[in-house]
Amino acid sequence: MFDLTGKVALVTGGNGGIGLGMGRGLAQAGAQLLIVGRDEAKSQRAVAELGAEGLSAQALVADVSDETSVQDLIARAVAQYGRLDILVNNAGTNIRQPAHEMSLADWNTVLCVNLTSAFLCSRAAHPHLQQAGGGKIINIGSMMSLFGAPYAPAYGASKGGVVQFTRSIATAWAADNIQANAILPGWIDTELTRKARVQVEGLNERVLARTPAGRWGIADDLAGVAVFLASSASDFITGTAIPVDGGYSIA
Ligand code: NDP
Repeated sequence: MFDLTGKVALVTGGNGGIGLGMGRGLAQAGAQLLIVGRDEAKSQRAVAELGAEGLSAQALVADVSDETSVQDLIARAVAQYGRLDILVNNAGTNIRQPAHEMSLADWNTVLCVNLTSAFLCSRAAHPHLQQAGGGKIINIGSMMSLFGAPYAPAYGASKGGVVQFTRSIATAWAADNIQANAILPGWIDTELTRKARVQVEGLNERVLARTPAGRWGIADDLAGVAVFLASSASDFITGTAIPVDGGYSIA
C-alpha cells in the first residue's frame, strides 16, 4: 500500500531541510527521486548524502518562482524518467517584517516562492500526471496557514493561500485521479527556523512551551506523512491539510 516502486517523485526544495526529509522517505519507499533547488552544490551534497544511505536521487537546478524555469524543469524531469507521478511543492522562504515595514518587493518575493511556485509547478505537472493515469500533489503549508504572527504577513498570506490552492486543484483534478493535499509542519529544526530563532526573540522557548511533544520537529518527522500522501494508501483523501506539529495546533 505504501510501495512507491516505479513512481517518479519530484520535490522542490528537496536539497535540504524538510524537503530532503520527505525526499528520503519517498526514496526509501521505492520512488525515483528528483530534488530541485537553485544551489547546485547543495543539491549535489544532498544526492551524495542519500547515496551514502543507499538511496538514489537526481538533482535538477531551477528557480520555482520563475515560469520559464518551471516549464523547463518539468520537461527535464519527464525526459529523465519518462513520467511523473508525485509532485511535492515544498520550496519556501520567509522575510520577517511586520506589514507596516514590509516593502512590496519583499512581499512579492515571499508570495512568488511560496505560493505562485506551487501553481506553476502543479500546472506544468498536470498533463504528465494525467498521462500517468493519476498522481499525487503534496503542498507544504505551515502553522501560519492557521495562525497569525505579527512578523509574517507575506508568509502567512502565502501559506493560507497554499491551503486554498490545494483545495481548488483537488476539486478540479479529482476526475483525473489526482489527489492534492497539504502538510502543515509545526516548528521544525531547519536552516529556515535557525534564522528565525536568531531574528525572533524568545521563539525557541515559546515553541518548546507551546508544543505538547516538548521538542522541535526534525525533517525526518515529515517523511511518513509524505509517503502516505504519495502512495495508494491515501487514494480517497484529497484537498485536506494535515498538521505534523507535535500537537502545536491543538494545544
Ligand atoms: P530550508 O530553508 O531548509 O529549505 C528551503 C528549500 O527551498 C531549500 O532547499 C531551497 O533550495 C529551496 N528554495 C528556496 N527558494 C527557491 C526557489 N526560488 N527555487 C527553487 N528552490 C528554492 O527550509 P525548510 O526546510 O524549513 O522549509 C521547507 C518548506 O517547509 C517551506 O515551504 C517552509 O515554508 C515550510 N515550513 C517550514 C517550517 C519549519 O519549521 N522549518 C514550518 C512550516 C513550514 P536552494 O537554496 O538551493 O534554492
